[in-house]
Amino acid sequence: MVGFVNKVIEFLFPPACPLCDTPVSTHGQLCGTCWAAINWIDNPKCIRCGYPFPADLDLGSAPMCPVCAAGKCELDWIRSACVYDDASRMAMLPFKHGGRIRYARFMSHAMIWALRDIDIDADIVMPVPLANRRLFHRGYNQAALLARPIAHALNIPMDVDSVQRKYRPDMGHKNSRERAANIHGVFSVAKPDNIRGRRILLVDDVMTTGATFYELRRTLLASGAVSVYGVSFCRVVRAI
Ligand SMILES: [Zn+2]
Ligand SMILES: [Zn+2]
Repeated sequence: MVGFVNKVIEFLFPPACPLCDTPVSTHGQLCGTCWAAINWIDNPKCIRCGYPFPADLDLGSAPMCPVCAAGKCELDWIRSACVYDDASRMAMLPFKHGGRIRYARFMSHAMIWALRDIDIDADIVMPVPLANRRLFHRGYNQAALLARPIAHALNIPMDVDSVQRKYRPDMGHKNSRERAANIHGVFSVAKPDNIRGRRILLVDDVMTTGATFYELRRTLLASGAVSVYGVSFCRVVRAI
């Protein structure tokens, strides 16, 4: 019966690339052109934060970027599916601000792919919380839309209400120091029993400076979390 219903749905709504509407074979899949336009992060990359190195660089089996080598990684490890650039922005902006929640399917699949080299021991998957005021206006937390299929694929429970976030005006184009100051103290743990002793995988759509991940980790560790990891769809890559 489910197979028949799926066939009817496919007939009425043939699968199309979510970004450009070109016909594809499976719902939620990108077409070849859009797939090729996105700058997916592959090896070589930093084993801790996933920072991508130029493809022709031979850095051995466990390369580390200077930030992580200095012990300043924002989390215990971070992975991102692709670089934040013109191509990924074409997906990110409508997803975050234009209600294109169906993009969550290919984005979350790409994020699961980005975790392929990690032996995951997390107890909880946690989308980066959105302030209630922002959730009310947008109608959805885009990080939660990505976290749900990831939690499902990893078979790990998702936690959406142990941590709350205060509303602060948008950070816009502020530099990293201003972003860090703006986010300081923004998170609070509402249910510490759910955090104490846990290893937590944070999920966000984009990692800009890492300030959000860093602040959330600080808050979670203060409530007794053991480890805090992160995965984002894309990340801003600056020269280091
Ligand atoms: Zn396309
Ligand atoms: Zn690194």
